[in-house]
Amino acid sequence: MSRTRAVLLSMLLCLGLIAGACASDDPEVEGTNGPDAQEAPEFAEDTTMAAIQQRGTLNVGTKFDQNLFGLKNPITGNIEGFDVEIAKIIAQAIFGGTIEDAGEKVEFTETVSAVREAEIQKGSVDMIVATYTINDTRKGLVDFAGPYFVAGQDIMVAKDNDTIKSVTDLNGKKVCSVQGSTSLKNVQEQAPQADVSISFERYTDCADALKAGRVDAVTTDNVILLGLVKDNPDDFKVVENTFTSEPYGIGITKGDQAFRDFLNDTLEEAYENGSWEEAFDSTVGQAGVEAPEPPAVDRYSSTGEASPAPDPSASTSPDASPSASASPTT
Ligand code: GLU
Repeated sequence: MSRTRAVLLSMLLCLGLIAGACASDDPEVEGTNGPDAQEAPEFAEDTTMAAIQQRGTLNVGTKFDQNLFGLKNPITGNIEGFDVEIAKIIAQAIFGGTIEDAGEKVEFTETVSAVREAEIQKGSVDMIVATYTINDTRKGLVDFAGPYFVAGQDIMVAKDNDTIKSVTDLNGKKVCSVQGSTSLKNVQEQAPQADVSISFERYTDCADALKAGRVDAVTTDNVILLGLVKDNPDDFKVVENTFTSEPYGIGITKGDQAFRDFLNDTLEEAYENGSWEEAFDSTVGQAGVEAPEPPAVDRYSSTGEASPAPDPSASTSPDASPSASASPTT
């Protein structure tokens, strides 16, 4: 359509000549522009939701290098992926409007695996949606809504590698993973003779090390590896033999029960109204993965005060073994 015709059409729409097609006058749905626009709810005064609504921005920590879940598009600069879509669904439930309107109200910050607990505890973000496995160690530091997806740890090798087929095959091999991840801890437990002395902050650095032949394998969640294979289809393959369960949660300040309930309610609504599936299909689905049944959210009872998060610059983190190096050693 030509620009003149497009302008004319939008003028007709806003003159109300096409019923129901124009933005609402209701101040609560200000800026909305589509049939899926939601009204902004009113929240109790002292809640995190009210504070975010008043601020006008939802601050979210996510990954910037994980294709399919959280990736900074090198051309547009937009952050894209399933975790990003989950954050937008939450933003829409707080601010109302359409999912596109809500997307503009989310401020994304890169949070690599090792800093997630510390960033939540510092209050630098309202929540973290970053392929973030819910586990008991982390529950001592932060709380989790969800899970909204369950991944499994797998192994990525060079395309022509036919010797590594399972986690035990990693014994005696050089294996790369990320500091502060469950992946590093799990591989150390299940393949204690694996050499994990090369580890990084980001999985893309592990992929580079595999491509350069500095390691024999990369291990982390299957869906993260899928994103790396999507970027390098001629170089890598996933073994497709998962050996853990990784339920992804939304990390928030420990003890913020009202916010956690709200997030869990919002996830359940998204399961019901199809927006969770839409988010999945438009991201992970693009790699040929069919949307699974969404997992039941776990409304566990959170007890006690948060313990201080360990210093991420130190060589250990709640889920990284003390022997994991903070920087590549070769
Ligand atoms: N899901 C795992 C974790 O939270 C591995 C992926 C990641 O490092 O983000 O540690």
